Amino acid sequence: MKYNFFAGPAILPQSVMKQAAEAVIDFNNMGLSILEISHRSKEVIDVFDEAESIIYELLNIDRDQYVVLFLSGGASSQFFMTAMNLLNPNESAGYVDTGSWSSKAIKEAKLFGNINILASSKETGYTHIPKNYEIPSNLSYVHLTSNNTIYGTQFQTWPESPVPIVSDMSSDIFSRRLPMEKFDLIYAGAQKNLGPAGVTLVIIKKEITGKVNRIIPTMLQYPIHIEHQSMYNTPPVFPVFVSMLTLRWLKKMGGLGAMEKRNQEKAALLYREIDRNPLFKGNVAVDDRSLMNVCFVALNEAHEKSFLTLCESAGCVGLKGHRSAGGFRASIYNAMDKEGVQVLVDVMQDFEKKYG
Ligand SMILES: *Cc1c(COP(=O)(O)O)cnc(C)c1O
Repeated sequence: MKYNFFAGPAILPQSVMKQAAEAVIDFNNMGLSILEISHRSKEVIDVFDEAESIIYELLNIDRDQYVVLFLSGGASSQFFMTAMNLLNPNESAGYVDTGSWSSKAIKEAKLFGNINILASSKETGYTHIPKNYEIPSNLSYVHLTSNNTIYGTQFQTWPESPVPIVSDMSSDIFSRRLPMEKFDLIYAGAQKNLGPAGVTLVIIKKEITGKVNRIIPTMLQYPIHIEHQSMYNTPPVFPVFVSMLTLRWLKKMGGLGAMEKRNQEKAALLYREIDRNPLFKGNVAVDDRSLMNVCFVALNEAHEKSFLTLCESAGCVGLKGHRSAGGFRASIYNAMDKEGVQVLVDVMQDFEKKYG
């Protein structure tokens, strides 16, 4: 057993993995694998319904206002699908640029309308979350990336917005409480905090759809997926099933409030060691530190390799920082427990004894 600190695809609860493995052999005592049955079968429809219900419950959202969709194409397809469906060619949308994922979202949205970059932390190497910018009321929507997987920054408060907020929550979905009423659309690739790669969760306020006047291919229209309850075409059944298992686990763990508390404790434990240990340093603004992706560097660059080797020998894997950010990144998503974080802290202390 390893301690999995990979950024994505990422750690899932062991109990989920075990149930998923069993369902691959025999699902619900049907004598069939979940991989070989129809998405129109009652058993699969029940899986989708249960996933949806738990999401409504966890986020405390109104079924009359919001719809839950399970789509494919990754969060990256939502970069264009959001703009395509919500932004008319002569209108403007606002984007807050907080890292490479938001830059990619901006690039795609520009294909469909005017993009107004309201604020950017690019100049400081994306090491903080911009604050104190105006959101003009003539925008169609404003887009935020709630957690910056690569740089380790995260929105800790949400801006006051006169226009709908759209947010990419791929790397912190269900990691903390969320005032869903502030958002008109959120999306997340499942593979960071929810399930395996292959499904993208979209939660959308019904009233914002169907308002643009461009021609959109059928598969890229939100109203089509809403009408067909995510089954216009064959949906990614297995990734949705595993996500449903993770959602059940989340509920059993006490829901988002309990998860937030657990995530805060884990992150505090690790940041405390980064701040204390003379060989390491955190590299993002303290107030904007992510609870999910903890980024840090070795003060002496020559230590980088030996630290990673020591981590590996203790069973801690996936700690190398993203190629564009360097240093180290410990992704401590929901499924990582405090014990795993403590093992990493112990390795950092051992490293200090050896090299300090
Ligand atoms: C990983 C990630 C993505 C990309 O997700 P795909 O499902 O691979 O397209 C987008 N945004 C954020 C914030 C991410 O962490």
